[in-house]
Amino acid sequence: MNINRFAYFACALSLALLACVFVWPSPAQERAQVAITVDDLPSHGDLPSPMKRSDVAKSMIATFKAKGVPAVYGFVNAKNIAGDEDKADVLKIWVNAGFPLGNHTFSHIDINTATPEAFEAEIAGNEPTLQALMGSKDWHWLRYPFLHEGDTLEKRHAVRTYLHEHGYKVAQVTLDFGDYAWNVPYARCAEKHDTPGMEWLKSSYLATAADSFALDRKLSAMLFGRDIKYVLLMHIGGFDSVMLPELLDLMKKEGFDFVTLPDAEKDPAYESDPDASLTHGGTLLEQLIESKHMKYPPVPERPMQKLDALCR
Ligand SMILES: [Zn+2]
Repeated sequence: MNINRFAYFACALSLALLACVFVWPSPAQERAQVAITVDDLPSHGDLPSPMKRSDVAKSMIATFKAKGVPAVYGFVNAKNIAGDEDKADVLKIWVNAGFPLGNHTFSHIDINTATPEAFEAEIAGNEPTLQALMGSKDWHWLRYPFLHEGDTLEKRHAVRTYLHEHGYKVAQVTLDFGDYAWNVPYARCAEKHDTPGMEWLKSSYLATAADSFALDRKLSAMLFGRDIKYVLLMHIGGFDSVMLPELLDLMKKEGFDFVTLPDAEKDPAYESDPDASLTHGGTLLEQLIESKHMKYPPVPERPMQKLDALCR
């Protein structure tokens, strides 16, 4: 091969390689499915004036619809309505928007401090409200308050048997970033018009969400070798309603597509039962890691102390 031919050959090869680099498919971004659920209807945490409970519900529903999130379950504590018309409206607004309601016990009882009978009475005590608003639609989903499922095996089994006999499914959680903790500081900062405080609340809320989603996906990979269909726990709080558009954008960017709760919980992962007495409960993924005595990956710290001290 003379030198010209060699140069020609080398050039052709380089161009071919370059072309490959440009047209070779980049690894597809991993997408995952998630159902969003909202706890503590009709009210969670403090609100800054003049925000009303019905404003929070309307705002969250409008955002869910605008961002294409289907049929978000709202978990109810009917005791908190307490004759308050605005709070009663929250449940009506939710159902009229085509969103379903589920059972979160009448007064948000902690199973760790109750007998199984008292806990079951709290489930039953919530039912007239759910029945009146939901009729024949499926409201037989229980979200355990505090994600506590029983600090003894006897309690856990007794309540699970009750749920099974009464046609309930457990609305398990597999994504959680402690969103509740931002609502009360937000009410304080908003009342004081504390702009730096508000900015920090926004950035820390989104950063904590992103860190927590990454951790929960890691736990899912450790337990199931894949992304399961996730269920995100949120609350009907003032700051949650403010941050929801940005949170949903973040979730889309992080690779999440939105599905309904019944769809997500069809994933066989939700047939796993840790079947352990876990005082601190937690998400299904956390319970499984703990009950299997698996080593927890490093957990990013949440800024609970700063949240507690902010805008005092
Ligand atoms: Zn709750």
